[in-house]
Amino acid sequence: MFYCVSVWSLAGRLATRPTPCSLYPMQPVRVIAFDADDTLWHNEIIFERVHERYRELLAHYHDTATVDRTLFATEMRNLELYGYGVKGFTLSAIETAIELTEGKISAEEIRILLQQGQAMLRHPVELLDHVAATLPALAERYELWLITKGDLRDQERKLEKSGLREYFRVVEIVSEKDDATYATILQKRNAKPAEFLMVGNSLKSDILPVLALGACAAHVPYHLTWEHERSTTLPVAPGRFFALTHLGELPPLLNH
Ligand SMILES: [Mg+2]
Repeated sequence: MFYCVSVWSLAGRLATRPTPCSLYPMQPVRVIAFDADDTLWHNEIIFERVHERYRELLAHYHDTATVDRTLFATEMRNLELYGYGVKGFTLSAIETAIELTEGKISAEEIRILLQQGQAMLRHPVELLDHVAATLPALAERYELWLITKGDLRDQERKLEKSGLREYFRVVEIVSEKDDATYATILQKRNAKPAEFLMVGNSLKSDILPVLALGACAAHVPYHLTWEHERSTTLPVAPGRFFALTHLGELPPLLNH
């Protein structure tokens, strides 16, 4: 049975990670919840490829830095209206293109942006390393949940494509992943923070809110992080925060 204890015994390389962990036994973890995008399957890399083509489309109007800065500002301005996901991104990309070209963008170029958005929604789901082997093994011993934010239809579609649906007892697709969201989910599902472990790639959405509730969290970094998800806040949660390099390190941690 896994208790929330130190990861220092895992491997020497983890000692370079920036989080203090000390032995701190807590209640046994019963529920392991996973983030989806860039934790179980690739996501940000798909956005990054579209970003590249977007920069090329607008290259004869503005430099890359201006395009990136303006698009991000538009996305942030629209986040409350559209929420997270491909559809909101596509609308913000069109709005930004109209702004940066001072209305000169053609219908054909707008059609290309719409097609890119549709291609993102149709994109195959590519699992990250270790996911296919780790989830079935954990599902035999723990109750697994999926907690993801984004467009409902798109996240449902990706989960089905992933082939992982059968391993999750609970699937929550939410608008935002903050302290209140996690508290509501735990309460609704009758799970105590001390028996809950969240696994994800975003410190901001997957780790910090969960630690704030007194639960455990394991960070599995992805090589790309959307600017909105970046956090400079380092968790300080002795015995409750675990820094992994990939998902395959989770079972050894749990078997500690
Ligand atoms: Mg993620």
